[in-house]
Amino acid sequence: MRSVKKEEIYKALVEIVGRDYVSDRKEDLYIYSRDPGLEEAHEPDFVVMPKTVEEVQEIVRLANRERIPVVPVGASLSLSGLTIPYKGGIVVDLRRMDRIIEVNRMGRYAVVEAGVTQGKLKAYLEENFPDLCHSLPEAPPSATIVGNLVIHGQGHLAQQYGFNSSMVTGLEVVLPSGDVCRIGSCALGPYWFSVEPFPVPAGLFLGWFGATGIITKVGIRLYPRKRLRDVEVFVVEDPKLVPEVVYRVAHTEMAEDLTTSAQPYPPIYQGIVMIQVYINGDTEEELEFKRRLIWRSLKEIIDAKEGGFMALTPDIRGTLLEEPIPTLTRFADVLRGGGFVYCGAIIPVEKFPEALKRLFEIAERHQVTFAHSGRVIGRGHCMMFAFAYPFNREDAASMERAKKALDESYIATLEMGGIPWKPDLSAQRMMIERMDKGAAELLKRIRKLLDPNGIMSPANWGVEP
Ligand SMILES: Cc1cc2nc3c(=O)[nH]c(=O)nc-3n(C[C@H](O)[C@H](O)[C@H](O)COP(=O)(O)OP(=O)(O)OC[C@H]3O[C@@H](n4cnc5c(N)ncnc54)[C@H](O)[C@@H]3O)c2cc1C
Repeated sequence: MRSVKKEEIYKALVEIVGRDYVSDRKEDLYIYSRDPGLEEAHEPDFVVMPKTVEEVQEIVRLANRERIPVVPVGASLSLSGLTIPYKGGIVVDLRRMDRIIEVNRMGRYAVVEAGVTQGKLKAYLEENFPDLCHSLPEAPPSATIVGNLVIHGQGHLAQQYGFNSSMVTGLEVVLPSGDVCRIGSCALGPYWFSVEPFPVPAGLFLGWFGATGIITKVGIRLYPRKRLRDVEVFVVEDPKLVPEVVYRVAHTEMAEDLTTSAQPYPPIYQGIVMIQVYINGDTEEELEFKRRLIWRSLKEIIDAKEGGFMALTPDIRGTLLEEPIPTLTRFADVLRGGGFVYCGAIIPVEKFPEALKRLFEIAERHQVTFAHSGRVIGRGHCMMFAFAYPFNREDAASMERAKKALDESYIATLEMGGIPWKPDLSAQRMMIERMDKGAAELLKRIRKLLDPNGIMSPANWGVEP
């Protein structure tokens, strides 16, 4: 039985989105009360699936009138509980808003609605614009483009062009008041080619985890998709060499993507760090040219027998070239109730050896297995270093161990001068405590200004649950 108040809100939501797209049934709320990570579940009161911007506006206005929390949701795949409705309220699942509105080939950008997934845009471009691509993360294809931008994600073009969020060319946002606004060239005319040179930064909405408004449309940059792609794997035993290898390869400006990995299983991987160097080209000659420059940049290290390229079987090469790479999650034994969490540490590349040492120590201390994967961002301006730990939901002790290892990894990140990426609530708390006081106060004021009633994703960057 719903209370009188809940009945009224339910009816108001039905009026906005229609009966089929609002629910307060236990079995529906269950799905939205958690994500695949380790954070504690909390049920929302309602879940709604709007189709239009006007419906999103109406939902937010209702929530504001009634002072009900609102949490926007894409595919809930952040793994750090960022979509868990810690204070209940209305979960707004945006996946019915899934139109690819425009691809501007000459201007190399796409405009998509908030529910468009990585898989949908990739497939659409492959079919209709095979010479263009967007920066694709290794997340499952059901992850949304917008969800990834909101958390400052990184895809396969990060080494060349930086965080995916710096590829945003325009935004349409429903503000916590219910008003809608556009940011960038789309605020002045029909084109979505750039957010600069505007005084209002798109940063008021990116990195906020839904706490400042609901993005309903986004413009993102597209880049040349070359016809051929290949991968080379450079192996070193001494992690201290990794920053130098990254520096040299990035300096050639020949790599499409540059990733790192280290893991204890299978045993053949023990004691080595692998640096995956992706190259692309429209012809074999272009590929060969890039390959040669990259090999030459590492010649001294090869000659000194401190590192070398690994021979790859066609199977391994094929797997490494898949987008996204499917084996990333294999260590998590998902079919038997397994999952994994990771602390994505955004660190200077020179901190790689220390980060790896800390990962080994943390894993040893908590008796957990681990995997490291990393991605170079910009031409080595920084990197994402993942401390990843698997767990099994059947085994509470394994979950506790993984959680402790995760918390320690956040602390290690901060101690190394890094930034925890897509931090869970406990890491957000740590960050706010340690942050420059002026910066913390500014974040609070921006939030209060945009959302005086505190309805938007109230836990994220507000933390107390
Ligand atoms: C196996 C695996 C591999 C991964 N690899 C990568 C990787 O290589 N690179 C990478 O960047 N990430 C990676 N991730 C992390 C994550 O899955 C992705 O970043 C994903 O794109 C997040 O999208 P989502 O739709 O799941 O977002 P959600 O988790 O649904 O949302 C993320 C945040 O954005 C907010 N939000 C969602 N939609 C809106 C909106 N319309 N307006 C305002 N706020 C909104 C949510 O409230 C939440 O705070 C990986 C995850 C997994 C499970």
